[in-house]
Amino acid sequence: MFPSVGLDGRSDAALSWEDRSACRGLEATIFYPDPDDEVGTDRALAVCRGCDVREHCLEHALSLREHTGIWGGATERDRRRILRRRRRSA
Ligand code: SF4
Repeated sequence: MFPSVGLDGRSDAALSWEDRSACRGLEATIFYPDPDDEVGTDRALAVCRGCDVREHCLEHALSLREHTGIWGGATERDRRRILRRRRRSA
């Protein structure tokens, strides 16, 4: 079986996680809705739900302490909750 090849001819293994993201090529502002904008937040989360690199994206955001935006299918509030939970269990 041949490895799958990306749009630019590189194998999946050679692609960065950002290259494999469901949001690649989308307007970045989609992922920075106003926290009170439920429709905008749901729209961004729907893209993340279909993303193959969701976990990697979330860990990236957590490691950088990204305070704004939707990352890895998690809102700002979700990420604060995850970090709090991890601190407690450490
Ligand atoms: S999880 Fe969401 S924000 Fe992260 S790379 Fe995938 S689509 Fe983009």
